[in-house]
Amino acid sequence: MAPAALRVDTLITNAYIVLDVATEGPEAQQEALESGREIDGGWIALDAGRVHSAGAGSVQPPAAERVIDAGGRLVTPGLVNTHHHMYQNLTRAFAPAINGSLFQWLTTLYPRWSALDEESTYLSTYVACAELLLSGCTTSSDHMYVHPKPNLIDAQIKATTEIGFRFMANRGSMTRSVEDGGLPPKEVVQDEETILTDSERLISTFHDATPGAMTRVALAPCSMFSVSESIMRKTAELAEKHDVRLHTHLAEDKDEDTYALEVYGRRPVEYFEDVGWATPRSWVAHYVYGNEEENRRLAAAGVTSTQCPSSNMILAGDTADAQALRAMGMSVGLGCDGSASSDSANLWMETRGAMLLARYRNGPSAMSARGALSMATRGSAANLGWADEIGHLRPGACADLVIWESAPLSQAGALTDPVEGWLRSGPASGWCVMVAGKSLVDSGQLQLDALDDVLPRHARAAAQMQGIA
Ligand SMILES: [Zn+2]
Repeated sequence: MAPAALRVDTLITNAYIVLDVATEGPEAQQEALESGREIDGGWIALDAGRVHSAGAGSVQPPAAERVIDAGGRLVTPGLVNTHHHMYQNLTRAFAPAINGSLFQWLTTLYPRWSALDEESTYLSTYVACAELLLSGCTTSSDHMYVHPKPNLIDAQIKATTEIGFRFMANRGSMTRSVEDGGLPPKEVVQDEETILTDSERLISTFHDATPGAMTRVALAPCSMFSVSESIMRKTAELAEKHDVRLHTHLAEDKDEDTYALEVYGRRPVEYFEDVGWATPRSWVAHYVYGNEEENRRLAAAGVTSTQCPSSNMILAGDTADAQALRAMGMSVGLGCDGSASSDSANLWMETRGAMLLARYRNGPSAMSARGALSMATRGSAANLGWADEIGHLRPGACADLVIWESAPLSQAGALTDPVEGWLRSGPASGWCVMVAGKSLVDSGQLQLDALDDVLPRHARAAAQMQGIA
């Protein structure tokens, strides 16, 4: 008897498929096509939430329950966001704060954020994930460090689970309020015991270390301005004990050098190393002001970093030289940063921003579209310690992918390289966005039943937080 014909869940045909971004130079497309990492006019088969197989048009694909004709569109791995503060979309483009420095901006907004509760956290997370999905993002972390009330991360995970979005919650923390020489008001900081107990509770309740997990938990003291040295050390020990990742802001602002020398008697990176964070478990946001020797030490230690191009530019700070860090062996991923600093959660835009920044800084050969796509996929997956399963579409990877919107107008004339055309000319949005093989964006439309209910509730919560009647 012949074996039953193989039948997979989903087959996407007639696509230009980027399975993995490994080469970035001028010959990258040719090399990728020859090696099979990119397929022109090919198909990709998905089954049980995983990439099953992929092939050229001349190769017979498996039979499928559902066939999607991509109409020649570009397919890439889903983009991965590794630094965000989703709750900040409740104070997006808040007029009293928009023209201040980073510290002025923070001190204007902290009192507003002290009104955060479970309802507003749930709503802001829901909105952030919907926005990210449309921009081709299929996995996000979120650095949630303001805890005026308990169980806010539980509310976040409720939203991401309802949506079916792959999520790494970052249990952020702050211990030092203004009274203790920190920046935040006392309403949003917590004592060490509360932070550590809640961290353990969240890990035991939500962290799923198994392959294909939809929810993981990382530990993430906010920054040296707002947490004690002791909570940095104890958090690193807790992460080691439970084998979870560590995240914080590092070397984001020039003032941090002066502050660290005054308060801790060391430079920020020396402090970071002394408190036990220079390990492959750590990824850091921004990382702009390390000196060359410090960059080499952190790269050698396996620390990775996240660049947030829009946030760097809108806050008018400096930006990391991502290419130089990568050349030293440090993996660099991408993030959109908090919605109240970059005011937008669009990973396509951050990918384009990374390409523009690198070229603006280091010249036209500094970064190609593939280089930036590599940061948004491979680099970001490495930030989250998840590079085995996400950030690429090799068989066995999680079925997290984007069929990008076709853009006959903005791409008119872009004929030679679909990846360069995608990032230079648009589109900015997904036509079909899948997480674990499930279409959360279909024909350019979000498939989220609750969104129509969530948006007006979010508007009310935002108005209340901003003091608008
Ligand atoms: Zn941040």
